[in-house]
Amino acid sequence: MNKDADLAKLLASEGISDTNVLRAIAAVKRINFVSADLRSAAYLNRALPIDCGQTISQPYVVARMTELMLAGRNHLNRVLEIGTGSGYQAAVLAQVADEVYSIERIEQLYLEVSARLKNLGYEKIHCLFADGRLGYAEAKPYAGILVTAASHDVPPPLLEQLDPNGGVLVIPVATRHGYQELQQITRHDDEYDVAYYDPVEFVPLKHGRAGK
Ligand code: SAH
Repeated sequence: MNKDADLAKLLASEGISDTNVLRAIAAVKRINFVSADLRSAAYLNRALPIDCGQTISQPYVVARMTELMLAGRNHLNRVLEIGTGSGYQAAVLAQVADEVYSIERIEQLYLEVSARLKNLGYEKIHCLFADGRLGYAEAKPYAGILVTAASHDVPPPLLEQLDPNGGVLVIPVATRHGYQELQQITRHDDEYDVAYYDPVEFVPLKHGRAGK
């Protein structure tokens, strides 16, 4: 029995329709990204705690954000993720992009997860220990940028590092009304179109790095 394929089927029944995304979910073994004591919960459609008080996102949210970032495109060249966390979302992105840059601000998580991704053979994921609010200008422009922590604003460097030719940024933005909404921002040269999607619950996008 392939539990990741079953998870993809469940997400399809919940409204995820992009076949590239469903294939990506089916291809990544979620169990590898969950701590040993939570393995029995790895295939529930739920967020779960990981080290350092952070969370691995709910599979539906991972799939939905990937779908919004792809925006109907089959495969992207470079993508940037802010908030590596467990590395699961980065592994899903690696199925739909040539190169994935993923930034984490907590040093301990960065060290653990970059070793995990290396052991699992994800060579196209480049882990970085930095404040993701600054993006990573060295590898710009990005066809897609995905932020997996909630912000009160859209950090300007991320807008600037988006491909001017149709790059898409997906970010949970905390509203004044106490909830977070997913924003999908598409860039055409100096124009940025914003579309609003599902309410979500993410840990906060913080400023600066934590660690040495
Ligand atoms: N994408 C992850 C879930 C991330 S939880 C997964 O698939 O498991 C959010 C993560 O964002 C946490 O690990 C948190 O430390 C990180 N984070 C918060 N603010 C950040 C920032 N400014 N730069 C980089 N990472 C940040």
